[in-house]
Amino acid sequence: RARERVATLTGPGQTSDGHPVMLLANIGNVADAELAGATDVEGVGLFRTEFLHLSASTAPTVEQQAAEYVRILAPFGERPVTVRTLDAGADKPLAFADLGPEPNPALGRRGLRLMREREDLLDDQLAALALAAAETGADVKVMAPMVATTSEAAWFTRRAHDAGLPTAGVMMEVPSSALRAQHILKVTDFASLGTNDLAQYTMAADRMVGELSDLLDPWQPAVLDMVAVACEGGRVAGKPVGVCGESAGDPLMALVLAGLGVASLSMAPQRVPMVRYALSLHTAADCRRMAEAARAADSPDEAREAAHALASGEL
Ligand code: PEP
Ligand code: MG
Repeated sequence: RARERVATLTGPGQTSDGHPVMLLANIGNVADAELAGATDVEGVGLFRTEFLHLSASTAPTVEQQAAEYVRILAPFGERPVTVRTLDAGADKPLAFADLGPEPNPALGRRGLRLMREREDLLDDQLAALALAAAETGADVKVMAPMVATTSEAAWFTRRAHDAGLPTAGVMMEVPSSALRAQHILKVTDFASLGTNDLAQYTMAADRMVGELSDLLDPWQPAVLDMVAVACEGGRVAGKPVGVCGESAGDPLMALVLAGLGVASLSMAPQRVPMVRYALSLHTAADCRRMAEAARAADSPDEAREAAHALASGEL
């Protein structure tokens, strides 16, 4: 019976008492966009643009990028598409945006840091996005990866607005930005929590090292606290804070994130039906209680169990 409801339940994400939580897709190329666009996801919460260029030896031109973006935006019609500017470096090296070897790539010149040294690459990408948005009429939102400070957020937001992209935000995947969310959200339009990197940097555990997976668990209470602080900053600033890390696709975690106050959850599109179903079984107050119980725990397993004990038996 539950399986039937998972398959037949459609429409926007909401708790049983109607509190909205947008359900969005993570995508990385045209094929992903066509698959996700054909489903009833409410839009895209994370388009990892660097995935288009992992095997390229030279930088794409503005025209090449715009043509590819048009094909990626088209399947979503009027649904919002959140495009992350190139997140090059560390675990996602790009040949044409390589600044040379570093002792600690994950702590180095990556993400927006790299784009600030290669403004030409950022400006070309923003120009291509503005062209593609104009051609398709799509609701394009743009966001920067690896933002650590308010001044970085302000710099990126201004540059994106100047390029003709009216909605510009930042990823919060570094503790410093989550802690300063209230301030950062005064200078930018929205934030999206990248829980993969937020776990890596909160726990000081390299996400490429499998042996550290216990530390990288998004149920680590410290990571939940970090999400809570960022959401509180969003509430004070009156700006939306979403989650686009893989944890958003775990139905139990999705309830906890909803309870912490996220406005949207972005995940692999095949996970959306299960998360939509989980939300439909619980009130916003249920979700808040689950979030509180998870944060009161002392380990990831205890946090998971505490949330699970409060979840509906059908989950
Ligand atoms: C994240 O860090 O959680 C994230 C969504 O970005 P990526 O996994 O691409 O680093
Ligand atoms: Mg990341």
